[in-house]
Amino acid sequence: MDGGGRGSSIADKLAKERRARLAAERLLEQKQRELFAANEKLALHARALSDQVLQSRDAARAAQSEAAALKGQHSRFLDDLERAHTAAVMAERRLWDSIETIRDGFAVFNAEGKLVAANRAYLAVFADSDRVVPGTAYEDILRLCTTRNVVDMAGEDPEEWVRRMLARQEEERIPTVVLRLTDGRYVRLIDRRARDGDMVTLGIDITEQMCIWAALEAIPDGFVLYDRQDRMVACNQRYREIYSETAPAIVPGARFEEILRYGLARGQYRDAEGREEAWLAERLASHRAGNSLIEQQLGDGRWLRVLEQETPDGGRVGLRVDITEMKQQQAALEEARLAAEAANRAKSAFLANMSHEIRTPMNGVVGMADLLCDTDLNGDQRLYAETIKTSGEALLEIINDVLDYSKIEADKLILRPEPFDLERCIHDVAMLLQPNVQERGIELAVDFDMFLPTRYVGDPGRIRQVMTNLMGNAVKFTREGRVTVRVVGLEGTEADGESRELHVTVEDTGIGIAAEHLDHIFGEFNQVDDQSNRRFEGTGLGLAITRRLIEQMGGDVWVDSTQGVGSCFGFRVTLPVAEEGAADPAAQIRFAHALVLDGELTNRRIFERQLRTGGMEVVACRTVDEAIAAAAGPCDIVLADAATAGDPGELVRALRATGLMAPVLLISAAPEEVRTGPDAGLFAAVLERPLLRSRLFRTLQSLSAGMLEADPVTAPAQADGRQMRVLAAEDNRTNQLVFRKMTKDLDIDLVFAGNGREAVELYRSFRPDLIFMDISMPEMDGRDAARTIRRLEEGTGGHVPIVALTAHAMDGDAASILAAGIDQYLTKPLRRAAIAERIVALRPAGVRAVGADGES
Ligand code: ADP
Repeated sequence: MDGGGRGSSIADKLAKERRARLAAERLLEQKQRELFAANEKLALHARALSDQVLQSRDAARAAQSEAAALKGQHSRFLDDLERAHTAAVMAERRLWDSIETIRDGFAVFNAEGKLVAANRAYLAVFADSDRVVPGTAYEDILRLCTTRNVVDMAGEDPEEWVRRMLARQEEERIPTVVLRLTDGRYVRLIDRRARDGDMVTLGIDITEQMCIWAALEAIPDGFVLYDRQDRMVACNQRYREIYSETAPAIVPGARFEEILRYGLARGQYRDAEGREEAWLAERLASHRAGNSLIEQQLGDGRWLRVLEQETPDGGRVGLRVDITEMKQQQAALEEARLAAEAANRAKSAFLANMSHEIRTPMNGVVGMADLLCDTDLNGDQRLYAETIKTSGEALLEIINDVLDYSKIEADKLILRPEPFDLERCIHDVAMLLQPNVQERGIELAVDFDMFLPTRYVGDPGRIRQVMTNLMGNAVKFTREGRVTVRVVGLEGTEADGESRELHVTVEDTGIGIAAEHLDHIFGEFNQVDDQSNRRFEGTGLGLAITRRLIEQMGGDVWVDSTQGVGSCFGFRVTLPVAEEGAADPAAQIRFAHALVLDGELTNRRIFERQLRTGGMEVVACRTVDEAIAAAAGPCDIVLADAATAGDPGELVRALRATGLMAPVLLISAAPEEVRTGPDAGLFAAVLERPLLRSRLFRTLQSLSAGMLEADPVTAPAQADGRQMRVLAAEDNRTNQLVFRKMTKDLDIDLVFAGNGREAVELYRSFRPDLIFMDISMPEMDGRDAARTIRRLEEGTGGHVPIVALTAHAMDGDAASILAAGIDQYLTKPLRRAAIAERIVALRPAGVRAVGADGES
């Protein structure tokens, strides 16, 4: 375009110059004619003079002076003309000089197709430039191109080429052509006809441009350039091939939207099918956004990656990369991944089922060993029986771990949130760990933030499992010192209702973990395997399960540990609060000054904080002596740790000796011993360690009210009423035996059914108050039996509680069990306490007490 403009403007200038020259010549001619006319007039005058013989001298003189004036005019004009001519020649020379300097070829042909002039760049193309001179015909120049091998004709017949080039000249608007010269250069020929029939030729060297284009053609991807008005400027061939359906519309100047619409109408874009307008809007938006990267599927199934980038002048340069193969690989990988995951789930499900199957016979082993221990045995026999029992229990724990982990892996573990007391849950775990804690002589303290509500909605069983793992590990790996559980909370951000982000940490002073092991102890089956650790047993699954459980609750787990110093495991979960704000701990507590005696710093700190939030001033003492000294100060109540006191009775007597009459609360790991001991009367209350905050406050409130909360007393069994009727459906003889032995101390009427059908019959004839129902039984399984019983009840209006006994604790099973009309279920192996507890809890009114511990 530029070249064309430059060429025509030079040609215009030339034409103008020529016209100026012609005009000047015409003017000269005209003036000469005028001069000639004036001379004639002069002759006429002379003739008149001779006729009239100097009729008027004045007239002659006037004529003479006019002639002189005209002559002067003439010579002045000749000067002007001379100057104009010189200027025109100079301008033409300057013009040619500048035309010579440009590196593009320039030539002018006259209307007959003969060369008028050409610059050096034009002539340089022809090795034999002497043959191209003014007057040479255009056709001859073309032939010279063929005979001298100037132009690379790409195999075209030379005559044909000359004919084609000549035909081109005949066209109304001569089309531009690009010639490849044999020296490797590219020339774009632009020919324009001037008004007087001349033809101006401009040959622009576009070698560099062509190199870039050649490169763009060589790349395997589609390349396209749009201008700022979204009109296509250029694209490579690959671009047209990619969009083969749309190719006819992909022409320079076409608008992007037109091209898209053309393609849409021909099913070019698979991802637009059925939503063409919406697709178009999205596509245009991403195109206009400038820098975008999208994936596109074409009608023939191929996939493209579409990259578009804004150019500095506001246009868009785009690349289209065919990623079909990559997509296919991706799909294959995804398929393989899904298959692997399915296989893994299947494996986990198998593992889970196997664990169930193992649990069923284990039930017999542990249950019978338990019963065996209760019989008269000699020393060796007792050792064997107890070993069987503890080994069986240990094995069950491992199986439980494997089962849990398999469930998590098989995506079968479902959390069952319900309101529960977190503090109580942690204390329960602490209580269970007490035997180990005492055996090691370490301290276990729970520091539950005073300002934190204790009731939350979460899965209590799983939280308890996590706490058991972390606290169990802490106790297991600590030989001296203490284990401290801390619970703090931040206000949650839950939009509907209150929640807390809970941080729970379990810190110990145990063997610690070396830095290099820290990263993988949360992995499956990972244990720190070194000298210090080898004597501790375990599956290495506990922390993996903990992590997965907490993650399933939406939280995270961490650990911080220094070898030889101790570890701190923590987790964070956000749980909704299950109570209406925290109860005011200070309510109804009348004590203003408390004296605390505890040798453990952590315990003192906890007491201090707890009591202060209860509105009390606290003096904390480490030793008995310190406490006796502090008794002189203000004191309304004493809280003493039994272990620190040594002899608690002696402590109270010493305090009383100072004149202190305030009530003394004793906190002991073995409260029963004190309560039944000789000094029981000295204490206002004896509380068990670890101490639940709510328990402490309830005690303080009761003491404030002047009446100490009585410890629950077992009510005497009522002697009246009939015996409770219990039906147990269980096909396995061993398990029947275990069940019978486990309930032998209860005052119940127990009948067994060997399968579901018998259970239904006995339901009618025996009229049980409670049914224990095994699930997998021959003939009719537990679910069917339960369903039948519930149907029978529809007629009578009654509802007998049914408790399933199952080794299958997969969550799907639990749901189907409950769906069959079963009220509750117990998981095997059966525990004597759990069975007794159910029997007591489900005893109907008017039936004689069964005599189990704790029954009131
Ligand atoms: P295990 O059943 O072996 O206890 P876990 O997954 O619970 O499995 O723990 C994995 C390993 O992490 C343990 O074997 C032990 O090496 C290390 N570990 C866990 N808790 C502690 C702790 N409190 N102190 C030191 N080491 C610990």
